[in-house]
Amino acid sequence: MLLGGRPSPGERGNVAGVTRGGRDVAADYTVKVRIPPSDAPLVGVLALQGDFREHLKAVHEVGGRAVPVRRPAELAGVDGLVIPGGESTAIDKLARAFGLSEPLRELIADGLPVYGSCAGMILLADRIEDPTLDLGGNPQQTFGGIDMTVRRNAFGRQRESFEVDVDFGGLEFSAGRDGDGVAPVHAVFIRGPWVESVGEGVEVLAQLHPDEMPSAATLDSRARIVAVRSGNLLATSFHPEVTGELRVHELFIRMIKGEA
Ligand code: GLN
Repeated sequence: MLLGGRPSPGERGNVAGVTRGGRDVAADYTVKVRIPPSDAPLVGVLALQGDFREHLKAVHEVGGRAVPVRRPAELAGVDGLVIPGGESTAIDKLARAFGLSEPLRELIADGLPVYGSCAGMILLADRIEDPTLDLGGNPQQTFGGIDMTVRRNAFGRQRESFEVDVDFGGLEFSAGRDGDGVAPVHAVFIRGPWVESVGEGVEVLAQLHPDEMPSAATLDSRARIVAVRSGNLLATSFHPEVTGELRVHELFIRMIKGEA
């Protein structure tokens, strides 16, 4: 809670100047808050399952107004949406149960900017190579939007989780001055999908080469696509939200603002 004079939007505030019992409270501790400006993009984070809290935090840290979305009414007015990592079958089932799937498909078709990480990437894919079937034999569904086929759990199981630095297109805004290039993105893969194939109009932003993957995934020694952009839709196989890597979220905010 902010105790002292309110910072203007976008600035950091603290409790300096607040006294309690004659003592300066700031001498005891400092509270830092960052209030996004009221015209900052309103970014919904689908909060049905998965690591939505990490995305809410990342969106906030790059200056967006982050709001959890669990029901259709909460989609009203959002400028963009994040679909978190987690379990795509669970998110699909819950989204259908909560009446979110159809409104989401319509918003995506209307051009809403959406970023999906890992399970979120799967949910943005038009096609899944190996969909899970429910007890009635019906395949899991996606919201779709990106003309691509994804393969779930492509890099192996939980214990084959790995981390690697990848070159990532579209982050030129983060290049250092004095000719320093764009630093690679530290990518964490946890039962992530890869993209088997993309249609025209889908831009490949990052790929993993065989020597960067767990050995079980390298049988045919092909590079694999792990990040794509298609119009207003962005998807990564990995989880920038868990590493403090904020540039992917920053790219997404720029897409929402029409700056990227
Ligand atoms: N394997 C999960 C799925 O199919 C995705 C894993 C993740 O989001 N970390 O949904």
